[in-house]
Amino acid sequence: MNPIYQVIIDTFLHLRRRCPGCGMDQLVAPGKKDSVVQCKFCGDPIPPHGDADR
Ligand SMILES: [Zn+2]
Repeated sequence: MNPIYQVIIDTFLHLRRRCPGCGMDQLVAPGKKDSVVQCKFCGDPIPPHGDADR
């Protein structure tokens, strides 16, 4: 696979986060990837990768 695509996919997967409350996937801003964000569907806090996202 083209390494450029790999980087893009990698970035995309990193920015996608699943809400532990409602289970919906959503994208977070690149600047927020290491901080807790609020779910836009149910309002629950979603921790950064490593906790909820297995
Ligand atoms: Zn939610």
